[in-house]
Amino acid sequence: MTGAPRKKKYLGAVDLGGSKILSVIAEDDGRRLGEDRRSTSAEEGPELVLERVVGSLEEALAKAGLQQGDLAAVGICSPGPCDIGVGVICSAPNLPGWQDVPICRYVEERMGVPTRLENDATAAAVGEHVYGAGRGCRHVIYMTVSTGIGGGLVIDGRLYRGATGVAAELGHMTIDPHGPVCGCGNRGCLEALASGTAIAARGEELVAQGGSALLAKLAQEQGRLTAETVAQAAGQGDIACQDIIRRAGYYLGIGFASYLNIFNPELIIIGGGLAKVGDLLLAPARAEMEARAMPEALKAVQLKLAELGDHAGVMGMVALLREGATA
Ligand SMILES: [Zn+2]
Repeated sequence: MTGAPRKKKYLGAVDLGGSKILSVIAEDDGRRLGEDRRSTSAEEGPELVLERVVGSLEEALAKAGLQQGDLAAVGICSPGPCDIGVGVICSAPNLPGWQDVPICRYVEERMGVPTRLENDATAAAVGEHVYGAGRGCRHVIYMTVSTGIGGGLVIDGRLYRGATGVAAELGHMTIDPHGPVCGCGNRGCLEALASGTAIAARGEELVAQGGSALLAKLAQEQGRLTAETVAQAAGQGDIACQDIIRRAGYYLGIGFASYLNIFNPELIIIGGGLAKVGDLLLAPARAEMEARAMPEALKAVQLKLAELGDHAGVMGMVALLREGATA
């Protein structure tokens, strides 16, 4: 007896962020068939956001010309502490009211397939390793520099999580023991010195001191002062703003040198919104890394920009679902 041929199944992946939800439906080789983007509307609270996650997956399925029954599994990545073993988002700084939300159980019930949760920086690291800038490399450090600094480590071809899953908190390496207080409570973490939040804070100080009329004007026009505002003023020739960005790059380079000496990677991939600032940030980072790292480690490494943009997280979830237990 020959049964009917087994129907092909597809993978669903969702990046749940503080401002937007991105869902894709993909083949297991990573080809994307359908996609949906919508605002998170986090202020509406967990229940409505969960509803939007399911709605987004359904829309991505519809765009791929598929139905719920065609899905094999769903992967979700999200910022903030989560218990990936039980699929619970413990808390999320940019999702107000989220406390121990069992997102996997909810999506499993609604979509009828196994659902897996992962931290978004970890997922992005896997995405870049498997489908992006790190293709074919076995020793990769992925760092995302945006409002915070996060990342992932691929050691000998495998994602490294550490004893309790906290590994690769690349932004929380102490760079200056007397530096500014970090969001984690420690002092002088890389994140407190080189993240978008840190750059914006230095920009605020500069404006308060009357140090940049251009930055003050841009901030007033935009109604806020972010790292992008500082970068914009720097791009328009403001020397003090250029110094702020260069200083952040300098600290990043100190971090890179330590990662090189500890992990001896062949590649450091830099993603996140601030990577777009380009050489003003990355040239001093590279110079400082070169000045500090051991020559043998330096010889092996390349710095590259991430390639997948905001698809890194969802593509990482596709890779993790595909590989099942390997990661
Ligand atoms: Zn910290």
